[in-house]
Amino acid sequence: MSDAICYLNGEYLPLESASVPVLDRGFIFGDGVYEVIPVYAGKPFRLFHHLERLNNSLQAIRLNNPLTDDEWEIVIQQVINHNGDGDQSVYLQVTRGVARRDHGFPGDVQPTIFIMSNPFKPVEPELLQKGVAAITLDDIRWQYCHIKSIALLPNILLRQQALEAGAVEAILLRNNEVTEGAASNVFIVLDGKILTPPKGECLLPGITRDLVVELAQANRLDREERAISRDELLRAEEIWVTSSTREILPITWLNEQPVGNGKPGPVWQRIYQIYQDYKEQLRQAS
Ligand code: PMP
Repeated sequence: MSDAICYLNGEYLPLESASVPVLDRGFIFGDGVYEVIPVYAGKPFRLFHHLERLNNSLQAIRLNNPLTDDEWEIVIQQVINHNGDGDQSVYLQVTRGVARRDHGFPGDVQPTIFIMSNPFKPVEPELLQKGVAAITLDDIRWQYCHIKSIALLPNILLRQQALEAGAVEAILLRNNEVTEGAASNVFIVLDGKILTPPKGECLLPGITRDLVVELAQANRLDREERAISRDELLRAEEIWVTSSTREILPITWLNEQPVGNGKPGPVWQRIYQIYQDYKEQLRQAS
């Protein structure tokens, strides 16, 4: 039994005793959005970037943000404080609330707000040393992948297919171009240059992705945001996937073939170190 404390609609309570009515539109329709925020040394990482993306997701599904950024900051910090001072991963979701089942938006209904926090599980050092395997799959998802929707069935099916093939991630292709991973963004290194697809409706604007682009720029690493073809992916010297929970993970096998020499590459080593140093600065900051 976990003794974690969560937040549900204004109350802090044990996760085990938190529940929502079965008519919640999150349960019935997947009608809601979410965020996952890493927490290092009790401090949420890039909180305002996450709150901005939450706001964009809510706007895209035409749901008013139930809290101001200041209110979000307070409730998120409270949940973190209730759950100790180790590294954590905060999950929050907002749904369109509880109403009789009907596709149309309900009238005057309060959104459901839920926040929980789990211990942050870092990627095992062995995986960072050796890298991991991925497979390519067709991006079968809808056309609004920039919304961080809780309706994740396509992502779940794609990730599961990758797992059953002995891989840790599916890299998705739409019209022969890379979009993103089932739960991550994709970077490649081609002819020494870091490439990642530009933001748009075909992929989630990852907070880690944006930070990696920012850090690459600040450290004068050669990089460009542009479309990546299937061919380029297959002949990349390095491939990485990024996300808040896995940070920057090197893909060393793609479709059972080695990527480059089959080991995490030098550009990954560099950006990974830069990313860790950046995190360390945040830990040290008061
Ligand atoms: N794309 C998808 C589809 C994801 O689910 C995620 C992680 N939730 C990401 C990208 C990475 O986003 P972030 O760096 O903000 O975790």
